[in-house]
Amino acid sequence: MAVTASPRVGVIGSGVIGRSWMAVFARAGCTTTAFDAETGQLTRAMQWLQALRTPEWEQVQPCASLAQLVDGVEYIQECGPEQLELKQRLFADLDRVAPHSAILASSTSAYDMSDIARQLRHPGRCIVAHPTNPPHVIPVVEVLGGDQTSPETIARTCGLLAAVGQTPVTLKKHAHGFVLNRLQFALVREAVHLLKAGVADVEAIDTVVREGLGLRWALLGPFGVADTNNDQGVRGYFGGHETWITDLMNQLGPTPTLEPELTELIGQALDRARGTVPRADVRDWRDRMVLAIRRLKASHPVGQRQREGQLP
Ligand code: NAD
Repeated sequence: MAVTASPRVGVIGSGVIGRSWMAVFARAGCTTTAFDAETGQLTRAMQWLQALRTPEWEQVQPCASLAQLVDGVEYIQECGPEQLELKQRLFADLDRVAPHSAILASSTSAYDMSDIARQLRHPGRCIVAHPTNPPHVIPVVEVLGGDQTSPETIARTCGLLAAVGQTPVTLKKHAHGFVLNRLQFALVREAVHLLKAGVADVEAIDTVVREGLGLRWALLGPFGVADTNNDQGVRGYFGGHETWITDLMNQLGPTPTLEPELTELIGQALDRARGTVPRADVRDWRDRMVLAIRRLKASHPVGQRQREGQLP
């Protein structure tokens, strides 16, 4: 069954991720039902949506029960805590009460849908749709099924996510942490290693990413950057530099322990860098800048024109 133009959707859990998903769906014009086991949390989420100062929050309907949430929905985005047993229970409840045509998607950061949906009667409509925090600002969503998810569920999920303005990326198979968090923590692991080894301080490491690597990665990704690092592209870059690149990769640090003293040292460095600016203001600034960068990229689609052969 195809996704309708403005599908009715449900969001379960109204914490950091749930409330942001509500903003995504409401902004796209979807009537959005919302449920949280803790009513105070749902009230705070509604206040947060109102503070976004977009009229769309009126599309969000707080619900007192799962049964109310699922009424007439085509798609449900589960955003409960990251605990396997809890997600298994939630999906079992949803499998019983949700319309049979509704897709049941989980925001899980790490679990395999094969494990979440193993005991269900209708596992074919269950899928992982892992967002990037916060999804109303950052569009990419990692989409992958479990071993019983139907191809139709994957296609419908990608269609719906694209229709509400997100960028679904389909993964071929499960890996703990999917792609985004594996890449993120590969870099964080090395950053902590360099800090502990005394190679550079917190400010220097953040500056290297902020004013260096991050600028290129935001446009091209790691393979795309490798392709522009050499006149012969990635073949020349990897092929011509294989020895030192392999040697360097062999010298990357092992997984460091995150002692409280280390976290405190990082926290103090970041507090000094932020000065008197509240952390919430930094987060707001980050979100506004990300949206500005996205607008800029959308108005200069160089990669797209390159693929279409319009640039030399
Ligand atoms: P959170 O703790 O902020 O919110 C979880 C919400 O679920 C709370 O409001 C809680 O009251 C509610 N809840 C608990 N049990 C419930 C139940 N049985 N039924 C309904 N609601 C229930 O967590 P979060 O950071 O929003 O994460 C939610 C999910 O999204 C997790 O699976 C997490 O791994 C994933 N995720 C988080 C991030 C992130 O950066 N925070 C990013 C991507 C994905």
